[in-house]
Amino acid sequence: MSEIAANLAAVRARIAAAAQRVGRDPAAIALVAVTKRVGPQRVVEAIKAGQRLFGENYLQEAGEKMERVAELLPAAVPSAPPVAWHFIGHLQSNKALAAADRFAMVETVDRLKTAAALNRGAAAAGLILPILVQVNVGGEAQKSGVAPAAAAELLGELRRLPALEVRGLMTMPPWVEDPEAGRPYFRALRQLAEQLRAGGLFAPDAPPLLSMGMSADFEVAVEEGADLVRVGSALFGPREAAT
Ligand SMILES: *Cc1c(COP(=O)(O)O)cnc(C)c1O
Repeated sequence: MSEIAANLAAVRARIAAAAQRVGRDPAAIALVAVTKRVGPQRVVEAIKAGQRLFGENYLQEAGEKMERVAELLPAAVPSAPPVAWHFIGHLQSNKALAAADRFAMVETVDRLKTAAALNRGAAAAGLILPILVQVNVGGEAQKSGVAPAAAAELLGELRRLPALEVRGLMTMPPWVEDPEAGRPYFRALRQLAEQLRAGGLFAPDAPPLLSMGMSADFEVAVEEGADLVRVGSALFGPREAAT
C-alpha cells in the first residue's frame, strides 16, 4: 500500500470513529483532500486509493493540476472515475468568474462582490454553483470570512443570485495546536447555521452543510457536526514552503 493510501485509510477510520462516538453516520461525512502544493502524481495516487474529492486554494495552481491529473488518470486508473474539486482559498472577485465552472463547490464566499462574479460565471456556463459562506467565527482581523453577526444579511443578499446555491457554512478557527481548542468555534458555527436555518435563510428541505476541521482537529469537528472536513498534511505529509 502506498503511503498516501495508508494515510487515507487511517484518516477515514478516524473520521468513522469520531462519527460513531456521537451517533452519526460516517458515510455522511465528506473528506476533502487538500492538495495545495501537492503535485499531480500524488493526487493521482490518492485517486487510485479511492479518493474522489479534492480541495485547492489557488486558482492557477488548481487549473494546471486539474489538467495534468486529467492527462495522467486514464493510464493510472483505467476506468477513471469522476473526480470533484472544491475551491477553499481566498477568492478575488476579478478571478471569481474563472472559478465558477471549474469547481463543484466554492467553500469560501464571504462577500457579495465575489459572489456576484461567481454568479455571472456560473450563469454564463449554464450551471448552478453550490457555495458555502465562510464565517470568521474567531473574529481574527487577518482572517477571511464574514462576521457571524453579518452572516444573515449576506445570506439574504446571496439568495438573489440565481446561479448560486448556498449549501452551508465553512470556517477556519484560530490555529492552536490543541485539537480541543477548535471545539467552541465548531459548535458556534453549527449554532449559527441552525439560527440561519430557523430564519429561513437556507432551503427548508436541505439542512445546511458545515465544512470545518483540518488535519489537527477534524475529529473534534466531526463530533461537533462537520459534514465536510478539509484534510491536507495528515494525508500528504508536511507541505513545502510557498514559493
Ligand atoms: C491548507 C488548508 C486546509 C488543510 O490543512 P491541513 O492542516 O494541512 O490539513 C484546510 N482548509 C483550508 C482552507 C486550507 O487552506
